Formats: sequence, structure tokens, C-alpha cells
Amino acid sequence: MNPQAEFPEAFEICQQFTISHDQMIEVIERMTKEIKMGLARDTHPRSVVKCHISHVQDLPTGLERGKFLALDLGGTNFRVLLVTLISDSESDMISKTYIMDKSLIIGPGSELFDFIAECLAKFCKDHQVERDNLPLGFTFSFPLRQDGLANGVLTAWTKGFSCDGVVGKNVVQLLNEAIARRGDLKINIVAIINDTVGTLMSCAFSSRNCRIGLIVGTGTNASYVEKTANTEMLQNFHTSSKQNMVINCEWGAFGDNGVLEFIKTSYDKQVDKQTPNVNKQTFEKCISGMYLGELVRLIVVDLIYRGILFKGKSSELVFQKWSFETSFISEVESDAPGQYRNANIVLDKMGLRQATDVDKRCLRFICQTISTRAAKLTSCGLVCLINKMNANDVTIGVDGSVYRFHPKFHDLLVHYVSKLLRPGYHFHIVLSEDGSGRGAALVAAAAVSNKQNPSK
Ligand code: BGC
Ligand code: MG
Repeated sequence: MNPQAEFPEAFEICQQFTISHDQMIEVIERMTKEIKMGLARDTHPRSVVKCHISHVQDLPTGLERGKFLALDLGGTNFRVLLVTLISDSESDMISKTYIMDKSLIIGPGSELFDFIAECLAKFCKDHQVERDNLPLGFTFSFPLRQDGLANGVLTAWTKGFSCDGVVGKNVVQLLNEAIARRGDLKINIVAIINDTVGTLMSCAFSSRNCRIGLIVGTGTNASYVEKTANTEMLQNFHTSSKQNMVINCEWGAFGDNGVLEFIKTSYDKQVDKQTPNVNKQTFEKCISGMYLGELVRLIVVDLIYRGILFKGKSSELVFQKWSFETSFISEVESDAPGQYRNANIVLDKMGLRQATDVDKRCLRFICQTISTRAAKLTSCGLVCLINKMNANDVTIGVDGSVYRFHPKFHDLLVHYVSKLLRPGYHFHIVLSEDGSGRGAALVAAAAVSNKQNPSK
């Protein structure tokens, strides 16, 4: 196909989303600067990429054993898990997913935590562990400021959450209070971790040189292994006996101080305006599943207004905010060249039943434009972290719906990271499953054994 000839107006709009090699190098340089600001004590207060200390310092040894509870909050679903670490290659997991009503994610915080405690109680009773005082690892996928492994203060909600009375509070305490209000459960919360940290840990369990955990799902973020000597925000970091510290970058906020203006389009600004966290999570809004579909929709709507797409036969639905789901991008791009099986299904769901083949090719081109930019920016972030660690052979564990379901996201990451990395540097990008289950259990296991044997 020749997009420029076939649909010149759409082509022109999409041109705004292309990022050149030099621009990618610029993005890497800027992010590197922001990460250093986040890590250093004197610049941390005014940094936007906060590089939170996770207090996770031990990567899995393969010797972790035992039974653990885990909670997973932060995407589209809430999950409770019971994880048994059996051997270095075997773990058993039972989990239950609970649907979260929209009212829960924008209502009072106390109701959110009561809901979590209720699900946990039901789950524990179903599996007869409600009195066992099992250690629990809480995967909480929002920015947390932590001064220990078992506490974390929420600094801001992201991804459409906006519950009152949680920002600025210790989330572990809020959950403990909700559990105490019920009085029917004995649980020992030993760790609260970010999903990227869980992803890193889960991957490191089987890949010894896993040093990065990446999420490209509803939101995006990464964590990586830093030298403790560089983590100035840790109390007594220079006398710490442990060499490494996992850093939760919170890279979704990259650009919130304006350093990404040079890649932003008018469509990005429009999406931003429609969110509850305007001017926040700039990088995330160009990359993650919560926003990609809306970017496609806004371009489509623009082309409808200009009389270019679906001539005179558009639908009401397409004019509704957020109606074009990010999964549609994955579906449209999964069609073989010249075929429109998935595109037809998506167009049907959007009420756009009279689309021509040119319309369909144009839609696919728009989807490719948006997902390619997301993959390019994610690649910039990865290269930034690999360079920061100076790791010449590194495994990157990844999870999240965009990475999992987009047909080309993995290949795009491999392609662009290869292009941007110094010669002689090697990397592997692997799907890291069960970060919030096994990952959280591994952290909980290390926490329990450190407590029993603090000198370790
Ligand atoms: C949150 C991160 C999280 C990421 C992926 C972002 O919106 O701020 O804490 O890791 O989403 O879930
Ligand atoms: Mg998740």
C-alpha cells in the first residue's frame, strides 16, 4: 500500500506522530537526565521521574519456599492470589479476579479498601487460611513513596483512579485498618510492591540476568536494578551492606515538566484534557493501553469531519469519548495484508458498517502509527535504563495487555532497542508472567526470611 497516495490527509496527520532516530536519541538523553534527578537527594524534590526506592534488594535465589497471599490492584481488575513456592522451578497458584465497579475507583478511599478487605476475607475463607496469619505481598501499581518494604505512601493516582482520602496516606495502613474493621481475618502484610517490581522478580526467578521489569498495559512503567551507592534517597545508602536496589522509575511521569513537548501532537493534548490527571503522566499517555485507542479515535473523528473517512456514513458511537478500545488496535493490526477480517469486526462494533477498503487500510495505517510511536518511546526508555546500568547482557521481563496482545509490539521493541543500543550490547525481551502473583510472593518470602535472619 502507498498511504501517501491513497489517503494523503491521513498520511499527513500521521506524520506528526513519527519520531526520527535523532529524536529518539534526544528522548533517551532527556530521560537519563530525569532519572539522575530522581535518584539524587538535592534534585529529587523537583524531579518528575521520581525513581522511588522499592526496598527490594535481593533478587530471587531460587530457594524461596512457602505459602503466601498476594493482592493485585492497579489495572482493570482486582485479584487475590494464594501462591505456593514449591521448588526453584515450580510454584502453584490459585487466584480469583474481582470485577471493580467504576464507582469504586472514583469513590471514597475507605470504600475501596473495604472492598479489598472483603474480597480478601472471602478468598481466605474459601481456602481456609483466614486464621493462618500468612505473609502477604501487595502489588499496588501506582506511585508510592516508601521508607520500608512494608509501607508506602501514595503520591498520586494514575490510570483513571481518583478515590478520595488515599493520596498522601500509607496504603498498607489503610488496608490494615479495613481488615481490622472486619475483625474476621489474620493477615501479615510484609511487602507492598509496584507491578514492575513484581514483573522483574518473577522474571529474575528463571532468568538470572533479568535486570528490568517493564509494564505496557493500562499504564506504563519500568523498574531496574541500580547500585545502592547511587540511591541517595535511601537512608544511610552509603553504608548499606547490600549492593543493589530495585528502583521503581515511575517513568509514566516523564515529560510532565515539558521536556517532551517536541514530540507531542495536538491529539496528545486533546487526550490529556479528557483525563482526570491533566498535565500528568505525559509519557504514559503516549504509550499505554488506557490512551492509545483514544488517540486513534481522535484522528479518525478528525478525518470524518474533513469528509475523508466513511463518507457520510459514520456512526454515533465513534463520536463518543474512549469508545475505541486499545484492543481494537491490536485486532486491526492482526489482519494479514490485504485482509480485513478483524478490521470488519472492529468497524462493526464501532457501528461503521459501510467502510470501503480504502477506509480500512487507512484505519490500519492510523493504528500502526500510534502503536509504532508507543513502541519507539518504550524502546527509548529501555535503552536509557540499559545504558544507566551499563549492562551489556540483560534480560527484560515484560507484562501488560499492550505488550501481550499487540501482534507486533515485541518485534518493534526488539527492532528499535537494537538500533539504539551501543554495539556489542545484548538483550532479551521476555514475557514475564505472574509478576503480581509469583513476583509478590518472592518479595514476601525474602521479607520473611530477612526478618528471621536480618544479617543475611
Ligand atoms: C503507575 C505505575 C505502574 C504503571 C503500570 C502507572 O500508571 O503510575 O505505578 O507501574 O502504571 O501499571
Ligand atoms: Mg496489572
